[in-house]
Amino acid sequence: MAAEKAALGAILRPIRGRLRWAIAAQTVSAIAAVVPFIAIAELGRILLDDGPVNTDDAWTVTWIGAAALLVRLAFLMASGAVTHFADDALQSHLRRSLVDRLGRVPLGWFNARSSGQVKKAVQDDVEAMHHLVAHSVLDITAAVVIPTTSLVYLFAVDWRMTLVTLAPLIVGLTLYSATMAGMAKHLPQYDRAMGRINGSAVEFVQGISVVKTFGQTRRAHREFAQAADDFSAFFLDWVRSTHGSKSAAEIALSPVAGLATTLVGGAVFVTQGWIDGVDLLPFVLLGIGLTAPILSLFYASYELRIAKGAAERVASILDSEELPVPATPVAPEGNHVSYRGVSFSYDGTRDAVSGIDLELAPGTVTALVGPSGSGKSTLATLLPRFADVAKGSISIGGVDIRQMALEDLYSRVAFVFQDVRLTRDTVAANIRMARPGASLEEVREAARAVGVDHVLQSLPRGYDSVVGEDAQLSGGEAQRVSIARALLADTPIIVLDEAAAHADPHSEAEVQDALSVLTRGKIVLMIAHRLPSVVDADRIAVLDDGRIVESGRHEQLLAADGLYARMWRAQQRTAGWRPHGSAATTPAGITLAGGNS
Ligand code: ADP
Repeated sequence: MAAEKAALGAILRPIRGRLRWAIAAQTVSAIAAVVPFIAIAELGRILLDDGPVNTDDAWTVTWIGAAALLVRLAFLMASGAVTHFADDALQSHLRRSLVDRLGRVPLGWFNARSSGQVKKAVQDDVEAMHHLVAHSVLDITAAVVIPTTSLVYLFAVDWRMTLVTLAPLIVGLTLYSATMAGMAKHLPQYDRAMGRINGSAVEFVQGISVVKTFGQTRRAHREFAQAADDFSAFFLDWVRSTHGSKSAAEIALSPVAGLATTLVGGAVFVTQGWIDGVDLLPFVLLGIGLTAPILSLFYASYELRIAKGAAERVASILDSEELPVPATPVAPEGNHVSYRGVSFSYDGTRDAVSGIDLELAPGTVTALVGPSGSGKSTLATLLPRFADVAKGSISIGGVDIRQMALEDLYSRVAFVFQDVRLTRDTVAANIRMARPGASLEEVREAARAVGVDHVLQSLPRGYDSVVGEDAQLSGGEAQRVSIARALLADTPIIVLDEAAAHADPHSEAEVQDALSVLTRGKIVLMIAHRLPSVVDADRIAVLDDGRIVESGRHEQLLAADGLYARMWRAQQRTAGWRPHGSAATTPAGITLAGGNS
């Protein structure tokens, strides 16, 4: 909670001065809102007073009331304008800082978070702060100042009668606090139950094809129904336990209850001769207005809580560690890649890879194989600096990649992974991403080389069609667009997940052809899942539990009869009965055109 508060304070710092001005203006406006009521009450007291009416006083009070209306209007507009400008400045500052920071975190940062989480912070959480800055701050000010001003005046008129007027308010607030206390206890459970419903709904929808294929519809549906039933039971229980006190609070805080108390109490006071009948007027007029701002204080405090949570999420992104960049970058000569004694750990305790030595010479294909979890992806993604090594070094052309400018690194290393990421932009812009200056002819040439030119040409607006709008691409087509992008970038080093070729079974062959074009004559580091894809590789590094346990060419490794040979025999056996998309149907895998193959 303290962290959340600190986060909110830090985030609001750039606009703190403006918020102070807005609060000051809102304070004036809130006082001015009460003044006309006071003026009416005073006017009543002047006009209904026994004896001759003092016309001068009556006019003065009337003018003060009218002037207060104008003051209120002016200051209300001023405070609203200040907060909205402040909010605008804050949102653009926050969004810019977030995008700036997201551009400088290591790429691996995104792997550890879902795009939904990032979207929530950049979009929804910044939006939640809009409510706080533009509305809640003013609501809270009004909710405090209006009743305070009224009470000061009422106490000045008659303190005993003020206490009577306050009675329903005190009863109502006590009951309300009791209800709210229950809320604090139940909220975590509420969040959990909602989370479970969301989770099972998403699971149900996402997995619908699998669920249907295996005839599990009823079972999956049952999980969702159970979550919904449990939620409903819990919610009903909660509502039952609080609805009595909540209803009583609402009745106590209603204007009718306030009015009735003031009138009944007032009648007693007048009959006892404690006050004059005319002095009841201020209590009737201002007493009913006391509860509404206090209720809005409750709502505002709820919004404040949401904004605090949002601020913490935004702050945690703004605090994410940046990928360190060198002050004076060094440009390597040549592109020979060396891994020397490389270790890396995700959690700082267990090494995902350790003691890795690996040389990737120009024009060669190196394949990483090994059981799932052996460290292939980790090793490959260290080269484009998804994360930095913990020990050892990776160098290109003799220069540690941490000493290179990031632009330099990315102009040398391209990566093609299984999950294709196309941005919501024209197809041409998607292919041009690494080389924004490329001509349409160059873009088309890259697309032609990977065999998607005709597909893109036939889109409604050709290469100007927007991905996700009028460019609806199949998995294989999208994958080939991403390969065209890497091809146009024309980097000498390619990091490739072989699974990219199998992402869409309908166009596996086309994607494999596209990859062959991309990797021709390049330094290739490939994460291999199917051993037949690697028979032609210049070097196969076999990983087990984060270490390279064997390395060499296919025949050498078979002859060595180690882990690779065992994996090869195992895959050969399963390939024998596998009907589709396996070693049996694609014996050569990707035709990797390395130096000597
Ligand atoms: P492979 O690609 O061979 O399947 P990985 O490189 O993905 O292997 O994983 C190597 C080890 O690192 C595994 O033990 C895995 O659980 C762990 N690991 C991979 N990614 C992460 C991550 N983002 N956070 C924590 N641990 C991870």
